[in-house]
Amino acid sequence: DVQLSDRVNNIKPSPTLAVTNRAAELRAAGKNIIGLGAGEPDFDTPEHIKAAAINALQNGFTKYTAVDGTPALKTAIIEKLKGDNDLSYAPNQILVSCGGKQSFFNLSLALLNEGDEVVIPAPYWVSYPDMVKVADGVPVIVTTTQEQRFKMTPEQLEAAITDKTRLVVLNSPSNPTGVAYTHAELVALADVLKKYPNVLVATDDMYEHIRFTDEPFCNIVMACPELYDRTIVLNGVSKAYSMTGWRIGYAAGPQKLIGAMKKIQSQSTSNPTSIAQVAAQAALEGSQDCVAEMVKAFSERHDYVIKTLNEIDGVDCIPADGTFYAFPSFQQVIDNDDRFEDDIALAEFLLNEAGVALVPGSAFGAPGNMRLSFATSLDILEDALTRIKNALAA
Ligand code: PLP
Repeated sequence: DVQLSDRVNNIKPSPTLAVTNRAAELRAAGKNIIGLGAGEPDFDTPEHIKAAAINALQNGFTKYTAVDGTPALKTAIIEKLKGDNDLSYAPNQILVSCGGKQSFFNLSLALLNEGDEVVIPAPYWVSYPDMVKVADGVPVIVTTTQEQRFKMTPEQLEAAITDKTRLVVLNSPSNPTGVAYTHAELVALADVLKKYPNVLVATDDMYEHIRFTDEPFCNIVMACPELYDRTIVLNGVSKAYSMTGWRIGYAAGPQKLIGAMKKIQSQSTSNPTSIAQVAAQAALEGSQDCVAEMVKAFSERHDYVIKTLNEIDGVDCIPADGTFYAFPSFQQVIDNDDRFEDDIALAEFLLNEAGVALVPGSAFGAPGNMRLSFATSLDILEDALTRIKNALAA
């Protein structure tokens, strides 16, 4: 029997990927399953982006690149950050990685020592706590409620900070809740952080472009430029440009930290795929009309899903500001129905009895809720929600 490391025994596989796999298994066994578990847009990668990659491939751009990304892609990222976010960075403050996931992984490994604490508001993206643990850090989970629209208050942030706190993680709009912090709320959180100069903050802006409200995008360093020297901006092309399989994400921040993250990456994956970098550059530099089209579809589906979920007995769902997720509470359903004890049992029930795959909220640190991804057609969503309603009423 192979003895595994404490490190790997300490973490769990990604629950969202697990749901997707389980749905695929049932489908392969002949069952009619609607998968609303996956966190990726249903659209094809836009043509001009694919064309750039094909062109790069045919021109022999198939070798190692600089570990931290091609100069051309880094320039495109710098211009994006300047144009969209009014943030200025030099090339040595940018690291291109194999997806947003590797960016955060590099950050954890470059920043944390054993026992260092990372403040993570729940509901959180499933991977943050486990990536912190891989780096021997300690996730400090701040629980938020639906009544507070799943947003951490300044008081909660302050109460979570200790001598050991190294990092606070913000993700807005959020996976899984879809809610975004307002400018004023970010200023209030920044006011707390100003008191703790040793604490860094990571802002995961992966869903920056997928927003339904008129309020302009804002993150903590845009709200409080004073935090520039201790903010790491994380972003990528996966969600905005429907490029999840290309694996390109990027980080921008203090040169020393970015350099350390690059060193970690140089001893793991080296550079992200050469042709994927060319595609990402085309995404950032090309027309943004494709993004607007996708967001329009997500917005329509959002409205339909929120309305329809709230028509189901015992289900309560707040509207999202962005992303392609709804995060309804099924707590009343769970409390009033003997068939399921918790959200995990409910997810199992809905998969087996309704043929709909959702991710239980406990995967995101929010038991009682479920994450529904509406990155699929309205017809399929209608079918899925009818199935859920009928299975619960049966
Ligand atoms: N950050 C958030 C909040 C996400 O939801 C995801 C993907 O699910 C990522 C980062 C990572 O994206 P990727 O590694 O696919 O670029």
